[in-house]
Amino acid sequence: MKQLLILSGKGGTGKTTVASAFIKFSNAKAFADCDVDAPNLHLVKRGFDQEDHFDYFGMDKAVINQRLCMNCGLCQTHCRFDAISHKEAYVVDAMACEGCGVCERMCPVNAIEMRPAKAGDLKVFRGMATFSTAQLKMGSGTSGMLVTEVKKKLKAAIEGIEGVDFAIIDGSPGIGCPVISSISGVDMVLIVAEPSVSGISDMKRIVETAKIFQPKIAVCINKFDTNVGLSEKIEAYCKEMGLDFVGKIPFDSEVVKAVNAGLSIANVDCAAKIAVKLVYEASMAMLLKEENTLFKISRG
Ligand code: SF4
Ligand code: SF4
Repeated sequence: MKQLLILSGKGGTGKTTVASAFIKFSNAKAFADCDVDAPNLHLVKRGFDQEDHFDYFGMDKAVINQRLCMNCGLCQTHCRFDAISHKEAYVVDAMACEGCGVCERMCPVNAIEMRPAKAGDLKVFRGMATFSTAQLKMGSGTSGMLVTEVKKKLKAAIEGIEGVDFAIIDGSPGIGCPVISSISGVDMVLIVAEPSVSGISDMKRIVETAKIFQPKIAVCINKFDTNVGLSEKIEAYCKEMGLDFVGKIPFDSEVVKAVNAGLSIANVDCAAKIAVKLVYEASMAMLLKEENTLFKISRG
């Protein structure tokens, strides 16, 4: 099964709008939302008759047994994350605890235990298609591991199902741990860029990050007509870097209306839909070819 990951260097570029349209256009049998901090691909999920829930445990957290604690304060002194405080007793702030285990080793009376702590929820939907998604608990810091779990769950859920040739994955914004976990093992990355000074800088960073994993890389521009000059710069950068440029999508107020109504733009007849369809066709041609393709769409 080939995997197409849709990324952007930052939030708000329309990455999920593009991902949801791709899912509709392709009638994808497998897809996943790896934006575990703020998942919203479930807005387009459909036709599922089974929903499985799993608890996600990240790192262990320290817990103090008050019956054993003799109030020496050593744990607080050695916690470099300031996760232990003292009012009436020494207590661990689970949100601040990084699970390093130093306090457990320092405690002279073994009053501290490292315990598994729930850090998020995983869900797998099955039916006409299989959809894997997750939500990280606020304050939990293991988003990269959770993304890996989302992908593993998708793979396990579709094992043995015939005709699942590809999966579409909505990635996280930025270039942090969850993005790196998202890229690992995928066949192709489509970067949705935005024509702004910060958007170009973010796009370059995500290109550099993606290159490390050597997938096919394609770039498209969303809302290209909001700054035609910078859009041209993005195209020139792609040419210079040898990246496949797969199209540009105009700003379209119909997209906002569709998103607010919980619809994919694939369901709405508008200029953006036509442009995204071209991006989709070019991207799928790249994904499904065995070798990197020179397929390019008209730059209009
Ligand atoms: S496990 Fe580490 S971070 Fe957590 S309370 Fe103990 S020393 Fe602090
Ligand atoms: S190191 Fe152990 S005994 Fe000392 S305050 Fe912490 S938990 Fe209590």
